[in-house]
Amino acid sequence: MDKSWSAIRERARQDLSEASYKLWFAELTAGDLSGGVLELIAPSAYVKRWLSGHYMDLITGSVRDALGPGVRVRLRSRPAEPVESRQVDPSVATAHQTTLDQALSAPPFPDRYTFETFVPGPSNKFAHAAALAVAEAPPSRAYNPVFVYGGVGLGKTHLLFAVANHMWQLAPRTRVRYVTSESFMTEFIKSVRERRGYQFQRQYRDVDVLLLDDVQFLARAEETQTEFFHTFNHLHQHERQIVIASDRPPQELGGIEERLRSRFRSGLVVDVQPPDLETRIAILQLKALRDNLAVPDDVLHFIASKFDNNIRELEGALLRVAAFASLSRQATDLPLAERALEDLIPERGREIPPALILDQTAEYFGLGPGDLTSKSRSRPLTTARHVGMYLLRELTGLSLIKIGEHFDRDHTTVLHGIKKIEGLMPARGSTYKQVQELTKKIRARGRGGA
Ligand code: ADP
Ligand code: MG
Repeated sequence: MDKSWSAIRERARQDLSEASYKLWFAELTAGDLSGGVLELIAPSAYVKRWLSGHYMDLITGSVRDALGPGVRVRLRSRPAEPVESRQVDPSVATAHQTTLDQALSAPPFPDRYTFETFVPGPSNKFAHAAALAVAEAPPSRAYNPVFVYGGVGLGKTHLLFAVANHMWQLAPRTRVRYVTSESFMTEFIKSVRERRGYQFQRQYRDVDVLLLDDVQFLARAEETQTEFFHTFNHLHQHERQIVIASDRPPQELGGIEERLRSRFRSGLVVDVQPPDLETRIAILQLKALRDNLAVPDDVLHFIASKFDNNIRELEGALLRVAAFASLSRQATDLPLAERALEDLIPERGREIPPALILDQTAEYFGLGPGDLTSKSRSRPLTTARHVGMYLLRELTGLSLIKIGEHFDRDHTTVLHGIKKIEGLMPARGSTYKQVQELTKKIRARGRGGA
């Protein structure tokens, strides 16, 4: 059996690119062969779904070549391991626990932000290739730092997490540190106040890879910039990898010292652009597959044609269509999608100010100023808060931390609120209606309408 199994895998290796082979086949193992059925075991339910959606013909073909024409294949997934058993370098694990970004960086989102879930296309291919190169061969001295820039919702944070996840998979002991520049600043200031400067430095210098997100928020924070400058130099001199994400290119980072900007320019600078139609469709297809949503291609095509410059909004639109179908117990077809997205289509180049969302949310729920940030946990207030959080996330590019600041809550509360709405929309008509009506109002106001 071992020999046949090698032959089967060899065939996949020949037919696929190295990257795809590694992603999907490297950890596939053979189980029992009995009664003419060969059992194959995928490392996770996600890989199993992907294999059955994309590679069943290839798998069945090579199994039959090796074992005989009548053999059938059954795919199974290994039960998930408990999160604690994951091997992360203890120093990194504790370092992560102290950061605000923990919820997004490590095991809680195992297969959400990875290279497998990132769809490459002409708009992001350089950023994707650079991130993959970093993840596969650190420290890549030629590209250090890698500086990724581009607009809101175009996959920069996704790529940073993908680097971290990929490296943990390849080498679980790699010390990877992800931080937003806002958290870096907050922690730095706290460490100075509490005279723990040394510990702070060790947290950021004793790492193999530093991923710094949203660097633009370092603007005008002079002391933090100086600290980061030294951190950067230390890592660079020791050939540790640095990856930075930004909403604009280094030369346009106003309020950031020239010596830092020139460091940012010294490696590889790559951008992410809004994705083209084909890429948007592919992103929706993958999202539908991952979330088990049965949405026909013409509907995906329709959504992709309407939402063209922010992938978060694109994905939000898909969720709304699916929620509407589920609530109204109708098939997900074009007329239904058109109704679900009526008046929601964003206008290009027009940003929605967070204050507008907050004001409209309060008004819609009949609340006064201050209610959204109050400590009251009464049911109507909580619902209004969760809806507000959901809309801020979908309609603006704000980080969870920033959204939290608007409600005087921390980022885990925000994440919880968003998940709550995502879960309620397909199940409860009133929630769906609230989100839809409010979005329409906000968009109409954003356009300067009534
Ligand atoms: P940014 O950091 O650039 O504002 P994010 O990385 O937060 O954007 O991406 C926004 C959303 O879009 C996330 O849910 C992310 O998974 C998704 N996304 C972005 N680019 C892609 C892509 N190429 N393939 C799949 N999903 C993507
Ligand atoms: Mg981001």
